[in-house]
Formats: sequence, C-alpha cells, structure tokens
Amino acid sequence: MDLPSDEWKYYVLHKWSLLPKTTQVTISTAETLSDIFLHTSSLLQPKDEMVLKRLSGSYLVKKDYDAPLFYREEGNRKFQEKEYTDAAVLYSKGVSHSRPNTEDISLCYANRSAALFHLGQYEICLKDITRAQMHGYPERLQPKMMLRKAECLFSLGRLQEANQTISDLENNLAATPAPAAASCHILQKTLRHLKMQVQDKEKLPEPFPAALTEAFEEMDLGEESKQVSNAAPSVSLCTDPLKGRCLVATKDILPGELLVKENAFVSVLDPGEMPPLHHSLESKWDTRVTTGDLHCHRCLKHTLATVPCSGCSYAKYCSQECMQQAWEGYHGTECSLGGLLLTLGVFCHVALRLTLLARFEDVHKIVRRLRDEIGNKDFLPENKNLVKTSNYSQGESEESGKSDEILIPGCDVNGKYESNYNAVFNLLPHTENHRPEHKFLCALSVFALCKQLDTGSPRVLSTGLTPPKLKGAATPGLCADLTVWGVAMLRHMLQLQCNAQAITSMQHTGSKESIITNSRQVRLATGIFPVVSLLNHSCSPNTSVSFTSTAATVRATQQIRRGQEILHCYGPQESRMGVAERRQKLRSQYFFDCSCVACHSQELRAAAEPKWNAFRCNKCRTLMQGDDVLSCGNRSCMKFFHRDQLVSHLQDLQQQVALAQKLLRNGNLEQAILQLLGCRQDAESFLSAEHTMVGAIEDDLAQAYAALGDWQRSATHLQNSLQVVEARYGPSSIEMGHELFKLAQILFNGFAVPEALSTIEKAETVLLVHCGPQSDEIQELQEMKSCLLDLPPIPVGPLV
Ligand SMILES: [Zn+2]
Ligand SMILES: [Zn+2]
Ligand SMILES: [Zn+2]
Ligand SMILES: [Zn+2]
Repeated sequence: MDLPSDEWKYYVLHKWSLLPKTTQVTISTAETLSDIFLHTSSLLQPKDEMVLKRLSGSYLVKKDYDAPLFYREEGNRKFQEKEYTDAAVLYSKGVSHSRPNTEDISLCYANRSAALFHLGQYEICLKDITRAQMHGYPERLQPKMMLRKAECLFSLGRLQEANQTISDLENNLAATPAPAAASCHILQKTLRHLKMQVQDKEKLPEPFPAALTEAFEEMDLGEESKQVSNAAPSVSLCTDPLKGRCLVATKDILPGELLVKENAFVSVLDPGEMPPLHHSLESKWDTRVTTGDLHCHRCLKHTLATVPCSGCSYAKYCSQECMQQAWEGYHGTECSLGGLLLTLGVFCHVALRLTLLARFEDVHKIVRRLRDEIGNKDFLPENKNLVKTSNYSQGESEESGKSDEILIPGCDVNGKYESNYNAVFNLLPHTENHRPEHKFLCALSVFALCKQLDTGSPRVLSTGLTPPKLKGAATPGLCADLTVWGVAMLRHMLQLQCNAQAITSMQHTGSKESIITNSRQVRLATGIFPVVSLLNHSCSPNTSVSFTSTAATVRATQQIRRGQEILHCYGPQESRMGVAERRQKLRSQYFFDCSCVACHSQELRAAAEPKWNAFRCNKCRTLMQGDDVLSCGNRSCMKFFHRDQLVSHLQDLQQQVALAQKLLRNGNLEQAILQLLGCRQDAESFLSAEHTMVGAIEDDLAQAYAALGDWQRSATHLQNSLQVVEARYGPSSIEMGHELFKLAQILFNGFAVPEALSTIEKAETVLLVHCGPQSDEIQELQEMKSCLLDLPPIPVGPLV
C-alpha cells in the first residue's frame, strides 16, 4: 500500500537485476539524490511506460456513466433490508459516477437522504435534499421528499421551517390533480400526523440547554513553546551528537498534559482495498465499503454524505468547501492521475502532494538556499551524526544550554522550528541506508510520475512566478525545473519510511445488537507531522498520540521529569512483542538499534516468558520455564513438557474458542457459554492466569452474558478479563481504557449505580490521557454518568 503495487515493484526489481553490473554500481555508489535520479531516469524506456500505463488503467477511477443505475438498485436492495449505512454508501458510489444535473444524480442524492433520515442524521439529510433539488429532482416525486424535509426540520426542532414546508407541500398537493393512488393516501396521512406533532411541540416550553457539553470543549495548547511551534511551553528542542534532534521537558510534566497539537502538513487518505477493474467477472462495479467511501478525501472527517469531485470517481469530500480547497491545493493536478498514483503507492502520492502543497516557488527556494549553504553538492548532506537513536540519558540541555552557534536543522533563521515545508525537507531520508534496488524503484517511479506531470498537467508549472534557473544538468526529457521537483519528491519518498505517521481512528465493531462495544484502531491516512517527527522512539514510551481528523495530539501518559526526553513508540511496543522482534523491526524500518529502557532492562533480565504468554504446570500450577523443553518452576515437582506439545495444545484450544465465537455471533448464546466454560477449564489446566487466551475467553463470556441480559455474570467475567489486560498492558494503557469502558457499559446497563460510577471515573481517567475529551468514548461515558446521576441527558439526536 505504501510502496508501489506488487506488479510494478517486481517489474522494476526484475529490470534492476538485468542491468549491467557497472550501472548497478554507479547507482549504488551515487552520493547524492540528484545523481541517483539522473542515472535512473536515463534508464526508463518506452516499454516500461507502457507497463505502467497498463497497470494504471486497471483501476476504476474515472466516472462510468453506466454505473449509477446499478449502484442505485443495489442501494435500494440494502434499503429494503433496513441496512441504511450500506445503502447510503452505495448511493454515494452512484453519485460519484453520475453526470451533474441529471436524473441519475438527483435520484441518488434523494435516496441517500432517505437512508440518512432513517439513521437519524437529519442535518446532512437536509443537505442531500437540497442537492437532489439542485440537480433537477423530478417534479412527480417532489411531495415525498418535501414530507421528509418537514420531518427532518421537526426532528431538529426547527418548527417554523417545518410549518412552512408543510404548507408548501399542501399547496403542491392541492395544485396537482389528485392521483388516487394508495401512496398518496399514506402521504397525506403522514402529513396530517406530522402537522399535529408540530402543533403539540410548539406548545411546549424551550428544551433544556445542553450546558454539560461546554465543560468538555477540546483542550488547546494555550501558550506555545518559543522554540517549537505547535508544542506546549514545557517542550524544548535539543540536539545531541548521538541522538540527533530530540524533544525534552523543560519542567515536570504530569500524565494527561497536552504536549503537541499539530495539523498534518500533508495527509493522503489510504485508498483501502481498491480492487483492479475486471477483478471478478460477477460485476464490473465494486460494492464494498472502503475508507474512501466513508471519509473526506481532504480533511478525513467521517461522513455518509460525500460529494464527489466532478472530474473523477475516487475523490469524495465532506463538503463543497473541502472539495474546492483540495482542488486548488493539489487535486487539480492529481485528479487525472488517480490510476497512476494507486499503482505507484501511497508514499509516492504523499511525496507528490507535499511538493504541490509547498508550491513551486517554495521547493525552489529551499533547494536553492540549501545549495548555497552546503555548496553545490546536493540538497543536504547525510549527517552521519544525526542517526535516530533513543538513548535514555538525562538531557541537561535547557535554556542555559542553548547556543546561538548551533543551528538545528529544520529551524528558521530565528532558531524556531515551525511546522512547515522547510522542516519537512530537513527530515532525514537515510539515503545511505536504503538498499540500492529500493532507491532505483523509488527514483524510477518518481521519474515516471514527473513525465506525466510534464505532459499531462500544465498546471504544475503555471504558478505565475518564474522559478529561478538552476545550474546543473537537466534530466533527459524533463525541463530543469521539473528535475528539481523530481529530486525533491525522491527525497520525500525515502524520508517517508522513517517519518510517515499512520493517522488512525477508533473503529467500533460488533453487531448492532451487542451491547458491548469493541474498538480497534484502523489506519485512515498517511501523514507528515514535522513536530511529531521530532519525537524519538522508546518501546515503553511516555506519551500517547491520537488523531482528530488531520490533527495529531500528543499527551503525556506518565510523569516526565524536567530534563527528561519526551518519547513515543514507532510501533514495536514492549507489551506487544519480544525484545528480539522489536529490535529487528526497528533495525529494518528505522535503521537503528534500540537501546531504550525497556530493551535494556529486558536484556539484563533472563529472557523469562512474559506472563501473558506463559504456560503453567498442570500438576502444581507453577509457571513453566525453559526453551524447547520446559520444566516446572517448582523444583520438587519435576514435571516437564516439550514446547511443541504445549503449543499444539494451545492451537487446539484456539480452535475451540473460535467455534464458541461463531456460536456467539450467530446468537446461540447458551451453547456459546457452555463451549466457553469448557475452554476456560482447559485453559486453566496449562496456561498462566494472565495468559492472553484466558483474557479472550473471559471477554467472550462477558459478551455472551451481556447479550442474555445477565449483567452480574457479565461484569464478573469482564473483571477477570480486565486483570489480564492490566497484567499485559499496564493500568494506564489504552487497552485498559477500552476494557474499563466495556465494564462501564455493562454496569450501566445493569443499573449497578455506585460500581458503574466508579468504573466510569476510572475509564475516563485512562481514556482522557490517550484520546482527549472529544473522543466518542469520553462523550459516551459523560452521557452514562449524567444519566446515572439523574441529570438531564445531553441530547444525542432525538428518536421519533
Ligand atoms: Zn472535508
Ligand atoms: Zn478528481
Ligand atoms: Zn526499545
Ligand atoms: Zn509442577
């Protein structure tokens, strides 16, 4: 997904393997990115371009005017089955393939408004009604939609407008010669009923104001650090010959404190699975729901009512404004390149958008300035000293240690680090660490893209400013300006491996009927955050990063003392994998050997199996020790087992649990419980009490009992699961937060008021740190609390 599609990748790697040795050596030993780019670009042949063109052409990114009818019918089918979310997405797909001002597009919008109405999303339902009318919704169908509009307005408490719509509708019906159809009778009956409701509601006093919500406004940074933009004053930027740049606390920081709040300099929505065209013969058109169907292409906001780009079928937005801004910023260039960008991968796409956002003059200015500073050699030297490591030493550098002579890379002339293109450009590409064939793949892909820009999109170069003429050779077939652009893009592509940030969002899974919410993080987009990129890695970090649309928020998860480094985890976290696996992952992706506290202390300790993965003796219940042959930790017991034996026992158990989960999903609750109780007994015989598998079984049991309405039993089992989660992830981890949230839901449903309140409190404390006050979980916890305390509830969309 990040890198080019497999077909293109293997094609280019094959091409590499066929190159003469001397050419391979020239590229491998090239010292600068411009040399790599120049050498590689001379090797792109017409037949390579043909391959790329074929691959790009296999994605459905253009509008297909035959598709709307298909999608509308599929949507109607889902609508009949009361699957309103799926129906809305299918209508959206119909919209994105329609011509403007046609019956096709107006019908898709109108049908989507009906689905949104059933989902209680009245505001956007009204917008869709307006859109349907704008695109020429047929006169004969108007009354039905006007009634829907009146119902929406009524539900939103906009009674005056509801009244107006009702009287318009009455006039409309009076003017048309009465069709005696049954549907008309139903319409009039509903209308009469609605009219009465409106009149009743008008007599009621004003609803209670939602004062509670105000208390939970999003926290802001307030004052900003003088040295680093988008960071709190408690954060300062230092450099260290060994560690490179790092963020250090200038005062004691408490858990939950907001440290960085930064908007992505660039973000590209992950396309999700975009199946190539003619993938299956069943249907030409894809009906699956992807990230791109549910989120704004620009601001990443979740929405069911997307508006499509008028030039392509893949870019969809939350609003007209986002569409306009995206078009002006980058999509005007990208629009026709959809298939090519999908083939070349997300990193290439991010690299292009970075340079588009930076604007032509900025790319040139920065490149030129750096050339002046460093001589004509290359854009930037690869400072060998600036290898990212995460040595955990007490930073002594504070205000006193600041020296004017040290210019920290990425800072402006005043020594301030801003979240801008200059900072992005200064992130390390680690050119010398990437494999030569990888550099070849990136350079060839970027060059192919540049050639498309040269021919296809004159917009790129028409920025109005005459870019400064750069000395030096131009790449064959490209003007000198585009060569600079290409080398900048290549630099970005190589930077992304270490600096790209996955923008994630919490997705709530579980069937509509289940009371307990299961959450998991899903990747929404890939972004670049220059300030967040300053954080070094630790396998046991002291911060947590969360996202709201394109903004990243970094909060402290534990106390950070003045002078200590602020650290976050690049992925391999202590509680998720062993030290060897972590080190291997960090080495291959980030090019450094981790020596964080967690890695250090685990090295010292004998490599004892963590409890969440440990076996225990079936005779005396003591934990087993050893590698291939495990013996009971209790010396007098003398029991021993081969690991293979235990592992295959665990696999059997896994299968039994999977069976139980299937029963659970199908609603065979009693049977599921019986099966799970059997599994638990089996688990207890050979797994540690804190084993992840034990936790999973307890969690499923809790879910099954909750579905039966047996809150007490459900809570007991969830408390067991909670202990396992705590043992593995720690008491203030996000995993713990989600588990506490589930427990709160169960206790709330069981009206166990004091227990529920105390659990809500605990869940809030943990989740606030990780997710911030605006997260869905926190909002829901607030609602539960106010409900339990018999306060007026925060309105959550009225049900009629
Ligand atoms: Zn948007
Ligand atoms: Zn487009
Ligand atoms: Zn580590
Ligand atoms: Zn034993």
